[in-house]
Formats: sequence, C-alpha cells, structure tokens
Amino acid sequence: MTENWAGNLTYRGREILAPRTLAEAQELVAGATRVKALGSRHSFNTVADSPDGLQLDLSAIVLAPEIAAGTLTVAGGTRYGDVVAQVHEAGFALANLASLPHITVAGSVATGTHGSGERLRGLASAVSAVELLTSDGSLRTFSRADDMFPGVVVNVGALGVVTRLTLDLEPAFSVRQDVFDSLPWSAALEHFDEIQAAGYSVSLFTNWARDVIDQVLLKNRVPHEAPDSLFGALPADGPRHPAHAAGIAAENTTVQGGIPGPWYDRLPHFRLEFAPSVGAELQSEYFVPRAHATAAFEALRGIGDRIAPLLVVSEIRTVAGDGLWLSPAFDGDRVALHFTWQPRQPEVEAVLPLIEERLAPFTARPHWGKLFHGAALDLDHRGVRQFRELAAELDPAGKFRNPFLERHLLSNSPQ
Ligand SMILES: Cc1cc2nc3c(=O)[nH]c(=O)nc-3n(C[C@H](O)[C@H](O)[C@H](O)COP(=O)(O)OP(=O)(O)OC[C@H]3O[C@@H](n4cnc5c(N)ncnc54)[C@H](O)[C@@H]3O)c2cc1C
Repeated sequence: MTENWAGNLTYRGREILAPRTLAEAQELVAGATRVKALGSRHSFNTVADSPDGLQLDLSAIVLAPEIAAGTLTVAGGTRYGDVVAQVHEAGFALANLASLPHITVAGSVATGTHGSGERLRGLASAVSAVELLTSDGSLRTFSRADDMFPGVVVNVGALGVVTRLTLDLEPAFSVRQDVFDSLPWSAALEHFDEIQAAGYSVSLFTNWARDVIDQVLLKNRVPHEAPDSLFGALPADGPRHPAHAAGIAAENTTVQGGIPGPWYDRLPHFRLEFAPSVGAELQSEYFVPRAHATAAFEALRGIGDRIAPLLVVSEIRTVAGDGLWLSPAFDGDRVALHFTWQPRQPEVEAVLPLIEERLAPFTARPHWGKLFHGAALDLDHRGVRQFRELAAELDPAGKFRNPFLERHLLSNSPQ
C-alpha cells in the first residue's frame, strides 16, 4: 500500500485502483462497501484512509481543463500546478493559492485548504459547481443555487467522489513578494491589523520562543511600492525559505525580492518543479476568530518553550470568513496558526493537546488535513451539525466514512 507525502502513514485500503474512465469509476464505487478518494496524498492524518476498503485514485481520468466565461472546469484528479499556467496564458487567474501547487483541487477544497489574505477566502470559495459520484454510482451536480452547496464543497471526502469542479476566475494579475526580517513581537502584537493590511497575502514566520517574528512575507498585486521597513523589520538581503531561521536554504521557493511575476508563480511559497516545504516534516494548523488573534499569539508564546524544540517553523496567516459548513472560516474571519513540525510524531502528538487547551477559549478549529488531537476543539458548531445531516442523506450506508471521520466529525450523526 502507498504512503502519504510526508511518509508518516501508510494507507490501509485493501487496494488502490486508478480507473481510466468515469464509467469505470462509477462501477467501482457502486460495487464497493467502503471507498475513499485519494488526492495527491499531502494530508498528514488519516482523513483519506479507507481501512480494508477501496482507495480510488482519479489521476488517470484525464479531462482537458475548460476555460470559458470566467470559469475553469477541471477533473477530480487535477492538481493546481497542472492548470495554472494555462489559465494565466488564457488571460485569467485564481484569486489565491495555497503555499504549494502540488496538491489536487478536489483534495484541497475537501479539507478547507487556504492561502493568506485578510480579504481572501479559502480556496473552496472559488468553487461554483461540483460533480459528485455518489454511493450508488450515479453522478450529481451541485451549483451555488443548491441548498446543499455550502456542505458539498468542503466535504472531507465524506459525501462521495468529486469527479469535476468549476472554479471562478478573474483577470490575470502580477504579484511581487517582499520579505522583511526580524519583526519584534511587541510590534507584531501592537500592529497586527496594519501588518495584515500591508499585503494582498501576508505570512508571519516564528518559532514562538524568540522575541522577534523571524520574517514577514508580503505578497502584493503590482503596481505596488514596498515600504523601507515594517514596524522595525527590515527588507531581507536575499531570498528566504520560510524556515530560514532553522537553517533551510531558499532553493525551492518562488521568486522574492520585489520582482513581479505571474500570480501562479508568486502566490505559492514553493515552486512546482521542486519538492515543497522542508520534506521531513509533519504539520498541524488551528484557526481562531480573527478578533482573538493577538490573545491567541500570547497563549502560544506562553508555551513557546514546549513548542520550539519540536518545531521547524510556524506560519501565521489570515483567512476571510465564508459560509461553507466545514470550512475552518465558516461564519467569520479567522487567523490561521500553522506548525511545521520535525518528524517526531509521538512527541508532536504529546504537545498537541497542550496547544489545543491553550487555544480552546477562542473556539479553535483544526485543519482537516493536518495532525490534531481534537478533544478541546470546536468540532460541533452549527456548520458541522448541518454537514452531519447532509452526510446521512447523501451517504446513508456510510460508504465514504472511515475511522477518522467517525471520531472527529460524524460520531453524532443522525441515523
Ligand atoms: C508541504 C505542504 C504544504 C501545505 N500547505 C498548505 C497550505 O498552504 N494551506 C493549507 O490550507 N493546507 C496546506 N497543506 C495541506 C494540504 O493542502 C491538504 O492536506 C490537502 O487536502 C491536500 O490535498 P491532496 O490532493 O493531497 O488531498 P489528500 O491528502 O489526498 O486527501 C485529502 C482529503 O480529500 C479527499 N479527496 C481527495 N480527492 C478527492 C476527490 N476527488 N473526491 C472526494 N474527496 C477527495 C480525501 O478523501 C481526503 O479526505 C499543505 C500540505 C503539505 C504537505
């Protein structure tokens, strides 16, 4: 059986099958007892696992991307990196991207994947239509006009297999990236709103234990003039990997230094043709309401000595609120607190409950594709409850369930 990208888990499905046609996929789903779709396998937990069931890999069903009338339609196995250059050449852009283009569109939106930007929503918000292969093997298409639509896009694979997605496009644009070194934490706390407002997309990199934020990464649509300094942080004298402070070289990062380039080659931190991030790593991420951002930072700095020894780097981003039931930003703007951990899973799993207790007063939600413990998290809000009803309706026999979903999401489902 195959491993996930990080190599920290082996999928437990009885077999992985990669149908070549939609009809073949329909037949496989109709005949299976348990099924989970696999995307590019970049999730760090067992959300995509199908113990003793079927794992369905859609990458062999090739559909040429359709770009028409300001929309992009892609197949269920398509990665962002497969289509973004073509979208740009056609004169269009996606509003935002995650830190890497290596991930599938279907897998990304299924887990609520996001980039940064206080006015930018998660990637799922760009989806205007979803074609879903449901438990009896039939295809159903959902669009924004459907009542169920807010539950269908961020679906953690629990409703069926997504075979086609349509996304909103906007006119193509260029972006520049500027990195600032050593932002004092005192300035970050006092000026967090202004720092977020300084970029179309803003990331802060920290280990929670030092007195400074190691780097601030501003991504701005051009034309844009970068400031000479940012609340005490100064322009970097060269390219910076997000984990620069941990000694990682900037070989796989997209071009920085204020040099403009197409949106798809600047919005992700990492380039498609290189392995992203650090490689030997694990990840966790929590979302708290934007209004509690600085209180949440203080809560984590208070246990910085417990976090830093296990950490490669943490990234702070913002995500605009949306109405998608399982989105981490369902019903309001959120600040995203991300952890790239060293590959020391037992020790990481031991510190996660401590982090989650610290963030519990702020109703923290987890990233569905990253490691979390769960007991103290906000996993029973209105959106989750609506989703449980939807899952019971679309998948009454529980064909697309797995132990991860039973534990964290569907345990209180209506029968
Ligand atoms: C180096 C690295 C950087 C990352 N950066 C970011 C980031 O910037 N922002 C962020 O939010 N996340 C980030 N992530 C997390 C990543 O975006 C999510 O884990 C995402 O789900 C990965 O997509 P995937 O295609 O690999 O999905 P998988 O991990 O393969 O699957 C995830 C879920 O989607 C379901 N799924 C996949 N395909 C389908 C389908 N066709 N139909 C129905 N369900 C499907 C699976 O069943 C599973 O439940 C990062 C991960 C890595 C490894």
